Amino acid sequence: MTRPLDIRQRILTIADRCVLCGMCLPHCPTYRLAQEETESPRGRISLAQALAADRLPASAGLANHLDHCLGCRACEAVCPSKVAYGTLLRDSRELLAQQRPPGLPARLARQALTTKGGGRLLTAAVALQRHLHPIKAGSTGLVARAAARLPAAAPSTALPRQLPAIGPQRGRVTLFVGCTGRLFDRQTLAAALQLLPLAGLELIIPPGQGCCGALHTHAGEGERARQLAATNLQAFADPGDAIVAITSGCAATLSDYEEMTGQALSAPVRELSDLLAEQLPKEGLPLAPLSKRIAIHEPCSQTRVLRRPGSARRLLERIPGIELFELASNELCCGASGSHMLTQPAIADALAQPKLAELHERGGELLVTTNIGCLLHLKANLGEASGVELLHPAALLARQLRP
Ligand code: SF4
Ligand code: SF4
Repeated sequence: MTRPLDIRQRILTIADRCVLCGMCLPHCPTYRLAQEETESPRGRISLAQALAADRLPASAGLANHLDHCLGCRACEAVCPSKVAYGTLLRDSRELLAQQRPPGLPARLARQALTTKGGGRLLTAAVALQRHLHPIKAGSTGLVARAAARLPAAAPSTALPRQLPAIGPQRGRVTLFVGCTGRLFDRQTLAAALQLLPLAGLELIIPPGQGCCGALHTHAGEGERARQLAATNLQAFADPGDAIVAITSGCAATLSDYEEMTGQALSAPVRELSDLLAEQLPKEGLPLAPLSKRIAIHEPCSQTRVLRRPGSARRLLERIPGIELFELASNELCCGASGSHMLTQPAIADALAQPKLAELHERGGELLVTTNIGCLLHLKANLGEASGVELLHPAALLARQLRP
């Protein structure tokens, strides 16, 4: 699959819109940490512009500044000139990777996280690491960090191809399972299989689907990301009323296919909790009460890419007795950001800490988030001893459901 536009030209066109006003700087997590122009959106736009115009070489320094970017798009949300920073970042990383191919460890980590065989190899490496060394959340080695973040993979079980709606049918949706969800978030996957039919939706799980391509896009491996997109475009050729992803990171990438490849999926892409909040009955579900304080962490993919904030609250308000509060620090990325949590330990952990401090200060007993990457990263930084459980909101709702 070929690129619809010349990426150098697109970088230059987007960068031209930046009026250098600096309004994005205080909203940028990496600028707030480093207080350096080169770690800011404005600085990165200038670096990308110079790279695309061949005014700067693809040096290690330039690569570092682009690599540190979380892709959280907080800058894009506040930019008065509507600079399409997310597109510029994706194109710049692809241009950079053409001149400085990513290192072997990072490529192996992506392969491991996004393929079935690779996932089995990674979990074996993680199990060995756990056996040999105690796990520390703040470790900086790639496998050690993976060991601290990835739960034991559930044994692979066959998924149904189709589940009928329970009660009167109100629609037909297709489920995007995703590689990390299938391996590491079986709870949320099980919740999707239980709750979507209960919402009156016939559920189809198309065979032949694969990784959404998010991690490859983050790393500048554009051609591989487009190949993965082509596989999913084919697998979801008959998508029903909506394509439902169980994690907001995958939903965000799927919703970007048109820009990535020139071809869009032919139904809206919805994140699971968002669709359930809309489709499940507001009253009458047999839900057990829950008297706990639940912190809501809203991922950047949910709020700034999908632009569907508030889905966790809208869904969980159905549970009697529940006490919900949004983290004030939701405006800043938690540091997970694709494989950033594995490859940029200092930044990733520094960004997780204020959220966890707030969680403790405000007496959060459980934390919900719609993105598996955020969940694994925050969980690792919390540590086993905290006693705070982390779940997808749909998994929490399914747990409260009574027969
Ligand atoms: S807010 Fe927009 S126009 Fe202003 S410096 Fe940032 S990217 Fe450029
Ligand atoms: S995407 Fe996030 S980390 Fe990157 S420049 Fe924009 S605000 Fe900063």
